[in-house]
Amino acid sequence: MLILTCPVCGVTAEETEFHAAGEAHLKRFGPGSTDDEFESYLFMRANPKGVHFERWRHNNGCGKWFHVARDTTTLEVFTSYSAQTVSPPQEVLDLIEDRRPGWSKGSGA
Ligand SMILES: [Zn+2]
Repeated sequence: MLILTCPVCGVTAEETEFHAAGEAHLKRFGPGSTDDEFESYLFMRANPKGVHFERWRHNNGCGKWFHVARDTTTLEVFTSYSAQTVSPPQEVLDLIEDRRPGWSKGSGA
């Protein structure tokens, strides 16, 4: 069971109060993109064993979207942060690097 904190309203609750919506920080492609770009946007998702950035919605609360950084193997939740970001903020990356020495974004672990 994940325990998440909504960064919008500050409520901390079990994951059943929230709704997971897949990988965060996807670059969207639409009209004018190549078929490969659009296919990748629609179907290709990271599935790391380790640190993962995800989109969540506070379904049974404020209803707002936010992002969560967590470890898929240990279920450790590093932090949650605003959905109004195109990539994980530096303070989030620093926090993860503190807890996972040697980890870096893109290392896949
Ligand atoms: Zn909330």
